[in-house]
Amino acid sequence: MSGRADFLPYNQPLIEADDIAEVVDSLQSLWIAKGPKTAEFEKRFAAYVGAKYAIALNSCTAALHLTLLAAGVGPGDEVIVPPLTFAASANVVIHVGARPVFADVDPLTLCVDPEEISKKITPRTTALIPVHMAGHPCRMEEIQAIAAAYGLFVLEDAAHAVYSRYKGQRIGSTPHAAAFSFYATKNLTTGEGGMVTTDDPALADKVRILSTHGMNSNAWNRYSAAGSWYYEILYPGYKDNMTDIQAALGLRQLAKLDRMQDRRAEIAARFNAAFRPYPELEIPFTADYATPNWHLYILRLNLDQLSIDRARFIEELKDENIGTSVHYIPVHMQPYYRDTYGYQRGDFPVTEGIFDRIISLPLYPKMTEQDVEDVIAAVTGIVARFRKAKGMMGQ
Ligand SMILES: *Cc1c(COP(=O)(O)O)cnc(C)c1O
Repeated sequence: MSGRADFLPYNQPLIEADDIAEVVDSLQSLWIAKGPKTAEFEKRFAAYVGAKYAIALNSCTAALHLTLLAAGVGPGDEVIVPPLTFAASANVVIHVGARPVFADVDPLTLCVDPEEISKKITPRTTALIPVHMAGHPCRMEEIQAIAAAYGLFVLEDAAHAVYSRYKGQRIGSTPHAAAFSFYATKNLTTGEGGMVTTDDPALADKVRILSTHGMNSNAWNRYSAAGSWYYEILYPGYKDNMTDIQAALGLRQLAKLDRMQDRRAEIAARFNAAFRPYPELEIPFTADYATPNWHLYILRLNLDQLSIDRARFIEELKDENIGTSVHYIPVHMQPYYRDTYGYQRGDFPVTEGIFDRIISLPLYPKMTEQDVEDVIAAVTGIVARFRKAKGMMGQ
């Protein structure tokens, strides 16, 4: 038993005095929409991940959507996506008129399996959306090689993966594009927000133009002394840009990202050490090529060793005042996808098998030592109460 009196939320952002001061500064400067802080955040974020260009947007969903449009993905095309992801990764494919085609994940990393991608390629395939699940990087060399062989565009869903590295290289430095999320629950937050990074100047330009009504690029500056009233609409664009109020938060969060990540790594190491001895539990896998950012701590239950299922385990944790989540209900099992494309349970056995066993535990920099101890005590206590007795397996 954790013995906790108050509820430990599954996730909370780390908002400190400097974050608040920077937002107040934006308000006082009267640059409250897109302005100089957004430009500065883009510059620093691009430098941080090692990309040539970064475009700040109002969400990762917008980042994925506008990048697909800019890459020319549209009706008649197929885009390969893993089913173990947030629905946005697949929804955006439908938004541009293309068809999402699912490819199952690797049972160890929970990221899309490059061999499964190869099996799903048809003459209509034009793009791949690998998802760096929980902040563990995908096998990018193999995915880029498949893309090169078939002439496919690679849009990395990096919503979980700010800070993560693949073979020492930060996620976000890519010849194609990566889309980041700064939603409230993500490792770096602006409340709502997103970013596209790319080394392709034409793609960067097009995403930027699409994000502000299709206006040519410096339109945000048109109210300053250096600006001009004149603008041109080059496409029927969208309104997906970031604001300076959000970018203010982003600048401070980026400045403290390494410190926040150190704390995440510390907590993950504590969890791993505490849970590793239990045969009823499987701790997250880290591949030798990966520097994960511990966006999520996804614990897997070995259900054959427990007398309760995942849903009951979550209820037991809730009774001990520990919040949790599940990442994710497989997208192909959602009603729209099932009914529209005829997907059903059984189509992606690895994803489905994982889904039945996973619980995301609280892991965020704001957690105290006591919070960490409470999570460990609650999880191990439930295991002790509901483990199947030795020699009574399969009863
Ligand atoms: C959060 C998330 C998104 C969407 O991000 P928003 O900024 O909320 O639009 C997309 N893909 C994945 C994998 C996510 O976790």
